[in-house]
Amino acid sequence: MIDFLIIGGGIVGVSLAYELAKYQLVIVLLEKEAELSFGVSKSNSGIIHTGFQDDPRSLKARFAVRGNRLYREMAKVLDFPFIPTGELVVAFPGERESLEFIKENGEKLGIPGLEIKDRKWLEKHEPNLSREIEYALLGPTGAVINPYEVIYAMAENATSNGVQIHCDNEVISIEETSDSWKIRTWESEYRSRYVINAAGLSADKISQMAGIGVPRIRPWKGEEFILDRHADRLTRRIIFPVPQKNTKGVLVIPTVDGNTMIGPTAEEIEDRGDLTTSKAGKQKVLKHIQRLVPSIREDQVIASFAGLRPTTKEGDFYIREDKNRFVNIVGIKSPGLTAAPAIAEYVVKMLIEKLEFLPKENYVATRRAIPRFRQLSSEERNRLIKMDPEYGEVICRCELVTKKEIKEAIRRGARTLDGIKFRTRSQMGRCHGAFCTMKIMAIIAEELGIPYEQITKRGKGSELVKGYGS
Ligand SMILES: Cc1cc2nc3c(=O)[nH]c(=O)nc-3n(C[C@H](O)[C@H](O)[C@H](O)COP(=O)(O)OP(=O)(O)OC[C@H]3O[C@@H](n4cnc5c(N)ncnc54)[C@H](O)[C@@H]3O)c2cc1C
Repeated sequence: MIDFLIIGGGIVGVSLAYELAKYQLVIVLLEKEAELSFGVSKSNSGIIHTGFQDDPRSLKARFAVRGNRLYREMAKVLDFPFIPTGELVVAFPGERESLEFIKENGEKLGIPGLEIKDRKWLEKHEPNLSREIEYALLGPTGAVINPYEVIYAMAENATSNGVQIHCDNEVISIEETSDSWKIRTWESEYRSRYVINAAGLSADKISQMAGIGVPRIRPWKGEEFILDRHADRLTRRIIFPVPQKNTKGVLVIPTVDGNTMIGPTAEEIEDRGDLTTSKAGKQKVLKHIQRLVPSIREDQVIASFAGLRPTTKEGDFYIREDKNRFVNIVGIKSPGLTAAPAIAEYVVKMLIEKLEFLPKENYVATRRAIPRFRQLSSEERNRLIKMDPEYGEVICRCELVTKKEIKEAIRRGARTLDGIKFRTRSQMGRCHGAFCTMKIMAIIAEELGIPYEQITKRGKGSELVKGYGS
């Protein structure tokens, strides 16, 4: 029998799999999409927040501060990029008091290094910020990551420690038996002593399947816009306005990959599947952002995406063992990405108190990333090509991604074009895959032994070709 069945392969579910994998347990994670990280966790700002924007009494603030610390450690052992950019909350005339208030909150939470900086400091360190900005609160612990890279890193570590991950496996019913839960998907049936519900936007529906009422999820849509990498680094730090009631505001975000991102919007919607972006959203973001950094131009925007925050009316995270052996993790909106490792740590500690898990013997603590050919020196590139000539075959010219990197992504679990994109950055450059998509499809077909017709962009329903070769 399974000890723990986790529903949801986003940052929360995968953090739990990673944390539980340290113990002698049978763990299964089920994800309805074709790959991990295809839910909310792929469509966000990628910020590891300091934690100072949230009410210090909330779980959100507590877990964000702890999560921020855990990411620093995890980045070393799991070999994913973690860029400690720092955060600045900027104040226009009349807003300094808000900075004092946020700083005080941050200090209550034990966030280190908080300082209010003046105009002179801003001119030297962030010269592109508006001259109308008078002060800024510096939070040096703010950072950025690539959310999907972190998820794949944790998942690879978890599987090397025995966790079973099944994608394309949508949970459709949950039934309690005397000593366990019976979980059905379209494909199979599982029995598990414990269920952990980390289903993001569907967490309330999953809980209902088990007969447990939890706060209803209300999606809040956020549209984000990515600027051309050739547009200079506009700011070195993540820039926040003074936060509003329901949102941290529209931000300037220097990403791990060197582009600047601007956004997100914040709008409550009904449709849990609406990931469209709009001209109106772009104009709204530009209007807010040009107030912070006047030199940002509309023609620098090269791509956009939208994500839905799984929000509840109550506002804070909802994390509890609601019924015997059924743990609900609901309403994980921002800063959920930051908080996820701390949520996992908290849930596992809560369970350990009751269950006494034994640590795993032969636990594999580390994981190594796929080498990024683009980022290597000429000597390192030559060394790799000598080792394996497929490092010498460039498949994506914009991002300089080689055949070996694509094959390695497939070996580590990529099954779709997006899965390969998120693991390697192929198809993410200026031509958006016009040059490399067919080449990547040929590699997928060969490696997985499937026809072109079965290759998808992001799972069933997103096939790219019909009747190829007929
Ligand atoms: C625009 C935007 C910007 C954000 N920016 C930040 C930020 O900068 N920093 C930060 O800390 N947070 C940020 N967040 C919040 C953060 O992205 C989320 O809190 C976090 O990703 C939630 O993770 P999750 O694992 O709970 O959900 P998800 O990633 O959605 O994972 C849940 C998974 O469950 C799966 N699932 C659902 N139903 C079923 C089923 N029946 N069977 C099997 N699987 C199922 C889904 O497919 C999904 O993959 C942002 C959010 C948005 C929308």
